[in-house]
Amino acid sequence: MLTVRDIHVSYGGIRALKGVSLRVEKGEIVTIIGANGAGKSTLLNAISGFLKLGSGEILYKDKLLPKRPDRVVKAGICHVPEGRLVFANLTVEDNLRMGAYLRRDKAAIAADLEKVFSLFPRLKERQRQIAGTLSGGEQQMLAMGRALMTDGDLVLMDEPSLGLAPLLVQTVFDIILEIRALGKTILLVEQNAYKALDAADRAYVLEQGRIVKEGPAAQVKADPAVRAAYLGTESDQAG
Ligand code: ATP
Repeated sequence: MLTVRDIHVSYGGIRALKGVSLRVEKGEIVTIIGANGAGKSTLLNAISGFLKLGSGEILYKDKLLPKRPDRVVKAGICHVPEGRLVFANLTVEDNLRMGAYLRRDKAAIAADLEKVFSLFPRLKERQRQIAGTLSGGEQQMLAMGRALMTDGDLVLMDEPSLGLAPLLVQTVFDIILEIRALGKTILLVEQNAYKALDAADRAYVLEQGRIVKEGPAAQVKADPAVRAAYLGTESDQAG
């Protein structure tokens, strides 16, 4: 579904991605794990068209992916950004409707809104509430719901569990599995490597802008070098 081929991305003189290649097949959950600053967010932002590629190419459903964020959304890729970035002054419902701003299919939008509310009953209860007054966990759910309102097939998720209480971390990972069950494909960037590797089918390890390891998630999780570098003790990342 998605093929990233040898992409390079720089911020001025800082080379953040140095020849990254990966693929995501339809229906998979693929995770990218790596330390702070490894380039995980840069990779998702490059796919979404927020950053310009120095070189390399990105294909989506066998076609070159457009290089503008609005066209990437139209092509069927939605992005749940790090830090949620909800519209703090809008209501929950208006935030969700913003996710559908490029769509014209009113009946399908209404049906998707109901789908999002059944996935996140909490958002339905709070649909008239101003988003800035939601808790961190609720804002994460809102950001996920808003992405689902774009009707994309591929969901890019950037650190969805960051800063959440342990109980909510589990909820977020349960929801990721539910989103896959809705027929979506997921590319998940996470620092919570244990949880991400448990949820994912396949994994890539990103280090200083390069993929240094890839394979089935269970195999990556069992790799002694990965365990030493990213996994610590399981209780460190419990939740
Ligand atoms: P984190 O988990 O902390 O978000 P990450 O793996 O997502 O880390 P990136 O945010 O993609 O990493 O950053 C990759 C590299 O690019 C880092 O060295 C970072 O300092 C640098 N970088 C990221 N954004 C910018 C920017 N806007 N300007 C300059 N350098 C940047």
